[in-house]
Amino acid sequence: MREVPFCKASLTEAEEKAVVEAMRSGWITKGPKTVEFEKKFAAKVNAAYAVGLNSCTAGLHLILEGLGVGPGDEVITTPVTFASTANVIIHTGAKVVFADVDPVNGNIDPNDVYKRITNDTKAVICVHLHGHPCEMDRLRDVCEERGIFLIEDAAHAPGADYKGEKCGSLADAASFSFYATKNITTGEGGMVTTHQADLAERIRVLSLHGLSKDAWKRYSPGGSAFYSVVAAGYKYNMNDLQAAMGLAQLERFDELQQRRSMLWQQYGYVLQGVEGIVLPHVSQDVTHACHIYAVRLKDEGCRDRVMSALREKGIYTQVHFVPLNKQPFYRALLGAEACRLKNAVDFTSSILSLPFYPDMLEEDLLYVADELKKAVAG
Ligand SMILES: *Cc1c(COP(=O)(O)O)cnc(C)c1O
Repeated sequence: MREVPFCKASLTEAEEKAVVEAMRSGWITKGPKTVEFEKKFAAKVNAAYAVGLNSCTAGLHLILEGLGVGPGDEVITTPVTFASTANVIIHTGAKVVFADVDPVNGNIDPNDVYKRITNDTKAVICVHLHGHPCEMDRLRDVCEERGIFLIEDAAHAPGADYKGEKCGSLADAASFSFYATKNITTGEGGMVTTHQADLAERIRVLSLHGLSKDAWKRYSPGGSAFYSVVAAGYKYNMNDLQAAMGLAQLERFDELQQRRSMLWQQYGYVLQGVEGIVLPHVSQDVTHACHIYAVRLKDEGCRDRVMSALREKGIYTQVHFVPLNKQPFYRALLGAEACRLKNAVDFTSSILSLPFYPDMLEEDLLYVADELKKAVAG
C-alpha cells in the first residue's frame, strides 16, 4: 500500500555539505555561521535585527521577558495555536487571556482582542495560522491605541506577507521556528526578528546566560576571557551546525516556497467544488506562506471518521490545532467561562491538515485527494 507521510523535511546534499563544513571548521557552538544566518534571515523578512535561538518557543519567551512582561501583567493570545504560544506567557508569571478567532481563517479576531484589554494588558501575541497573515492593520491600531506590545508568532509564516510587508517585520518583534516540520528547518531552532536594536540586544544577552555582549567570542583568539553577568539569562542560543543547515535551507527557500505554492494550487484544483470540503480561504491582500494545507469538513464526527479512513489508506493527517481553551491545563487554570470561545471551537473541530511538503509527489497528492473525496462521500 502507498504510504503518504504528513510531512517530510526537504534536505539535500547542499545541507549535508554545509553541516559537515561547519563541523570541520572547528567552531560548532554559536559562532560566525549563526551570525551570518541571522543577517541573511533578517534581510529575508525585512527586519533590522535577528537573533538565532534553539526554538521559536525560546524566542517568544525572550520577547516577552525582553519587553518586561511579568507577574501582574496580562497577555492576550489565540487559543488556536501550539501549546508553547501560551505556555511562555505562564513562564513569565503573566496571565494568559484568550481571544476568539475569525470564523473563516482561524486567526485572532482584533475586535475580540479589543474587548479583552484591561489596564493590566501588556502585550498581544498573534499567530499567522497555517501561514495566513493576521489582520495586522487592525491589530496594530488596537495595540497602538492602548499602548500595548504586539508580537508575531511567525512559526508558520516565513515567506508570508501582508499588504506587501513581510511577516516578521509587522510588529514589535516576531519569533520563527526551524523545527523539522516547518518551512525552513535546522532540525530544532528558532529566530527572533525585530526593528528595535535595544530589544534585540536584550534578547541576545538573555539567550546566553545573561552574559554581556559577544561573550560567545570568549573562546576565539581575539576574544576576552572575561565577561559580565548582567541578567539571570537562559541557555537558548542557536549553534553553528544548526545555522549551517539553516543557511543552506535559506539558499533554497524561494525554490521550496514555489514548490509549496504549486502543490497548494494543485490541491485547490482537484478539491474545489467537492461537496462537504471547504478549502482554505486566502485573502486578496496577502501572500500565504503555504505552511499547512487545512481543509474543513462538515463537523467533528465527520473529521474524525475521515481521519481514520485515510489512515487505513496509509495517509497521515493532523489537526492544527486542538484549541488551548479545550486543553485540561488551561481549562483548570482559567475556568470554563474564559474558555468559552465559540469560533475557536467551531473552526478547529472540523479542520483537517492534509499531507503537505515540498518534495511531495504529485501522484501522492492526487492519491490523497481521491481518498479524501471517497472518505467524505462515504
Ligand atoms: C511549531 C510552533 C511553535 C513552536 O516552535 P518550536 O521551534 O518547536 O519551539 C510555536 N508556535 C506555533 C504556532 C508553532 O506551530
